[in-house]
Amino acid sequence: MTPAGGEIRDKILRELASLQIEKDTFDTWLKDLPFGQPSPDVVEISLPNQHVKEYYERYWRSKLEPAARKACGPGVQLVFLAGQEAVSPDHAVPAARVHVAQPCSCDDGVVLNPDYVFDNFIVGQCNRLAYSAAVATADAPGKAYNPLFIYGGFGLGKTHLLEAMCHSVRARSPRARICYIPAEAFVNEFVTALQTRKVNEFRDKFRNMDFLVVDDVHFFSDNRPACQEEFFHTFNHLHNSQKQIIVSCDTGPKDMHEIHERLRSRFEWGFVVSIGAPCKDTRLAILQAKAARRGVVLPPDVVMFIADNIKTNVRELEGAVIKLGAHSHQSGRQIDLDFAREVLADSLPSAPRVLNLSEIVQRTAAFHEIKMSSLLARTRQRSITSARQVGMYAARCLTKHSLDEIGSAFGAKDHTTVLYAVQKIEAQIKENPEFQRSVEQFLTSLRATDDMN
Ligand code: ADP
Ligand code: MG
Repeated sequence: MTPAGGEIRDKILRELASLQIEKDTFDTWLKDLPFGQPSPDVVEISLPNQHVKEYYERYWRSKLEPAARKACGPGVQLVFLAGQEAVSPDHAVPAARVHVAQPCSCDDGVVLNPDYVFDNFIVGQCNRLAYSAAVATADAPGKAYNPLFIYGGFGLGKTHLLEAMCHSVRARSPRARICYIPAEAFVNEFVTALQTRKVNEFRDKFRNMDFLVVDDVHFFSDNRPACQEEFFHTFNHLHNSQKQIIVSCDTGPKDMHEIHERLRSRFEWGFVVSIGAPCKDTRLAILQAKAARRGVVLPPDVVMFIADNIKTNVRELEGAVIKLGAHSHQSGRQIDLDFAREVLADSLPSAPRVLNLSEIVQRTAAFHEIKMSSLLARTRQRSITSARQVGMYAARCLTKHSLDEIGSAFGAKDHTTVLYAVQKIEAQIKENPEFQRSVEQFLTSLRATDDMN
């Protein structure tokens, strides 16, 4: 009989703790590792995917293996498992559904990005629902969710998921008629069709698709009634024939003010799902994956540094990896923390800085359009309490002030009130994507104000 995973973990973690690894680094990379011991001479660790596995091989084997040997016996071998090799349900990042190595082309000639596959999409709390909906839709086109409406800010992975669905459908149904098209291209093609009197060909092309994916439909909002009308009829035609329609947008259907009501209501027929900004764990996993994929060697403290400074946009995380890789290649220098600070100095939107509590209080009142005096009073009016809780949450996220200090800044509230506020907002963010977006918007506006100072 081999000891249970928890017992082994405690022993190995005790050994690791004696190495005096910084607490933040320890908590992020080691504390929650799922250890197992399938036989007396093997300790295994299940990791979510190949990229993370490579990362641990590179950076942590040299520390983990000696610790495992001290804890479990000198002959013990350490094995990292990735993705489907890994059995731990705790790390059940969904494995790749379909792996496509070749560039895949749509029926309208657009070549899909070969990197935008489910396999390369890192799943976290911010995008789990959108990812699951995308996988389900690609598994059962026209049946699971129709239409599927994915929305979220710039650089959060909408196009990646849209193209991943196309790859997946193409791989399983080589004869399916698939079209991925940005809304802007749809508009341009339609305008050309009108000018060249080829509207019928245009209609036939889109109405004969089995899987129509239109990216960035907020582009339709831009006063293009004829085009919206055309898309509306295409939508109805495909939907009536149970063909799959997928759209992405930068806002939810309710906030698409310029779009015709009847099209907006069609968007709400199926499944509407948002993608939010990545949380820290997701940012770390994305950075590891992007670095591994590009062969850029990023030490753990550099990964942490980037994840702590680029918080709202995956495209920027990727940009940081590319930039570091390019500079390191050109200069022949290895990437370390000083090098990263130097190279990324201009591209960090939120370098660590101190935000002032009284400014956060003022901005909370302004953002929620309430008076400072009400915000600071003892009133329990719901809208004011909620604004105050958001303000306390922002102060907790963006400053290093204690709960007590935050409580006094918000009108002499005690630390339990602040703690309750933070927990409440965290729970609401998880439950309600609209609320999450509004809080993110507030945090972004605070950071932006601070940038100017
Ligand atoms: P959007 O369409 O929402 O503006 P994209 O899909 O173009 O964003 O994503 C921007 C970049 O970030 C792409 O290179 C994409 O591969 C990458 N990306 C976004 N989300 C993820 C994720 N969860 N895992 C891996 N890469 C991601
Ligand atoms: Mg996009």
